[in-house]
Formats: sequence, C-alpha cells, structure tokens
Amino acid sequence: MKKNILIIPGDGIGPEVTIWGKAALEHIAEAFDHQFTFDEALMGHAAIEKTGNPLPDDTLEKAKKTDAILFGAVGHAKYDNDPSLKVRPEQGLLKIRKELGLFANLRPILLFEELLHASSIKPAILKGTDILFFRELTGDVYFGEKKREDDGKTASDLMIYHRYEIERIAHKAFQAAQQRSKKLCSVDKANVLESSRLWRETVQEISTQYPEVATEHIFVDNMAMQLIKNPNRFDVVLTANLFGDILTDEASQIAGSMGMLASASVGESIGFFEPIHGSAHDIAGKDLANPLASILSAALMLEIGFGLKEEAQLLVDSINDVLKEGFRTNDIADQHTNRYKVLGTAEMGKTVLKFLSNRTTNTAT
Ligand code: NAD
Repeated sequence: MKKNILIIPGDGIGPEVTIWGKAALEHIAEAFDHQFTFDEALMGHAAIEKTGNPLPDDTLEKAKKTDAILFGAVGHAKYDNDPSLKVRPEQGLLKIRKELGLFANLRPILLFEELLHASSIKPAILKGTDILFFRELTGDVYFGEKKREDDGKTASDLMIYHRYEIERIAHKAFQAAQQRSKKLCSVDKANVLESSRLWRETVQEISTQYPEVATEHIFVDNMAMQLIKNPNRFDVVLTANLFGDILTDEASQIAGSMGMLASASVGESIGFFEPIHGSAHDIAGKDLANPLASILSAALMLEIGFGLKEEAQLLVDSINDVLKEGFRTNDIADQHTNRYKVLGTAEMGKTVLKFLSNRTTNTAT
C-alpha cells in the first residue's frame, strides 16, 4: 500500500512522543512492504515562533494533500498564563479541524489488563471496560461567538449547534454501535441548555433508523459520576465538543494515564490521529512523557485511516507485551512498589519497537 503521511509534532512533549508513533509506522511499512512517505510541518507555538501564524499556509496545504496526519500536541505555558494573548497555539488545531472537515473525534478507552492497577479506580470496577467515545469537533462553545462587554467585565461564549452537525456525527456513532455491542449512550444537558435539547431531539430521531441499537440519554453531570462508578456499563458514547473534551480526560483515568489514550478525527476526507493529551509543559524535555498514546495513534491511523487491521493489532499487541514484561513510564508505574522497570520516553519507544520487531519477524509476509 502507498500512503503519504504528514507528521505535525507541535509543542512541548509533542515532538518527543511523535517520533515514536512515526518510528512504529516506519517499522510496519518495512515489515509489510508498504510504501509510507513522510513529510513534516509546523503548528502551534513552534509555528508562531517561526512564522507568526499557529497554522501556516504551508502546513494547511500539505495537510490537504496528504493521506493521513500524525499529530503531537500544541500549547505553551506562556499562553496559559496570559489569556490576553491574541495569537494562540490552539487556534492552529481548531482551524485545521475546521479546514479539513474533521467533525468526529473517536476516542477509544482501551484498557490494558496489565494497567488495571495503574488507575485510581478499583480494578474490580474497571474490569471489562471498553468504551468508544464520539466527541463532536466543529461546533459548541469552541466556535460560537466570543464577546466581552461592560468594559471587559462581562464575557460570553455562544454554545451553538446546527442540526446537520449533530446528524452527521450521530450517524457515525450509531454505525459504530451496530458493529459493537449495539448500545449507544448520548450525553447532553437537555434539562438546561437549548443546544442540548436540539442535540437530544436529533439523536432521538436518528435512533429510529437504527432500531437494533439500544439508545440511552444521560445528563452530563450524571455521566461524570457514572463513568467512575460503573464504567463498564457503557459502550459507544456520543457527545458534544465541550462535554466530550472533559469526559474523555476523566475517562483517561480508566486507562491509567493521559499518556495511554489515542484519538482519530475523521470527517469528509483524510484522518487526523493524535494522543488525547496536551503539550504537558510540566514534563516537557525531561524524557518523562509516555509515548504509548502516540504509538496507539499510529495504530488508529493504520486501522481507521488505511484499513490495515492486522498491522494495527500488532502495535497494540507489542504494547501489551511491553507492559506484561513490567516496563512502564513514570505515569503508569505504581509509585508504591518497585515491581516495575521504569523507562524514559526514548527507552520506552525503543522497547516497543523491539517487541514489535519480534512479532513482525514471525507474522509479516
Ligand atoms: P496535558 O494533557 O498537557 O497534561 C495534563 C497532565 O497529564 C499533566 O500533568 C501531564 O504531565 C500529564 N500528561 C499528559 N500527557 C502525558 C504523557 N504522554 N505522559 C505522561 N504524562 C502525561 O494538559 P494541560 O496540562 O491541561 O495542558 C498543557 C498544555 O497543552 C496547554 O497549553 C493546553 O492548552 C495544551 N493542550 C493541548 C491539547 C492538544 O494539542 N490536543 C490538548 C489539551 C491541552
């Protein structure tokens, strides 16, 4: 298979982890005789520093022409501490999602058996959890009008949804539910918000086209509680942009760490694959970041972007091998025992490649 892949490492730990996602793709290409051609582009703070623009034209042009994108993260402490800065790293990410028509963000909460104890939730509650979040990406408070009034002392962000935005992601989520355990939970705040009432009404209508899927509607505050109390009762979860942002960070604790969760943004054309975590300035440049979410993002690219299921599974299995052997990065090591071999980012990346190599020697044709 021939594919062009654009790498956008971004800021903070983005470049540190993305090289391992890319290395995993290179390894798979070699083992399976695929031709993956890589290019690289700037986004976020790195792009602002060089060009003054968080999403330079050159990046957007490359992004529109490629087959898939592997992204790291954007963000820098300087902007977090100074909200008045007008040109900001995250504008690059929001714009590229919009420009590429990426409206659905799929976030699988993949729980590795070996990490049951890395979570702050009791293993007995977690066991069997396998959730696929569908987070809407192009609407909500992120894109609605933002205003300051009253000499800057009053601020508002418009929470806005159009029916077609809800319909298109709902269809994707119901289709996924049909392939999985035929259960879908839609999350909103329809008791208070008008945009949520439109959300619920639309999802209810669409659910009639998927009669074999059991549909449940739940308020977001209740969902925040249920996700910790009884996570394995959920399968496909469909929600809006802001609620999805918050709930999937919460759900990362099911998987043990932000460093374990990958996501795929899909829509009209190409796919955009990235860890769910940010640029994590607190650990950037310290060889502490967990690169597994980037390698899992590469696996999602292989599976969802290119339909290469066997290759994707090999990446997941190799990570499982590494965890079974007791290798951990700091974020998933149990600080109270010294049972684990704690590795830095680069060593963890290399170890996954070593186990991948063992597996591909036996499987690849
Ligand atoms: P964050 O995800 O960067 O970090 C949250 C916590 O998780 C931190 O303690 C961090 O050390 C830890 N963490 C995250 N990824 C990790 C990994 N791979 N390995 C080990 N530990 C990991 O979120 P934040 O601190 O709220 O934001 C930091 C910056 O990232 C901000 O500038 C924010 O705007 C940006 N951000 C970017 C994205 C993105 O690019 N998609 C998403 C969220 C936040």
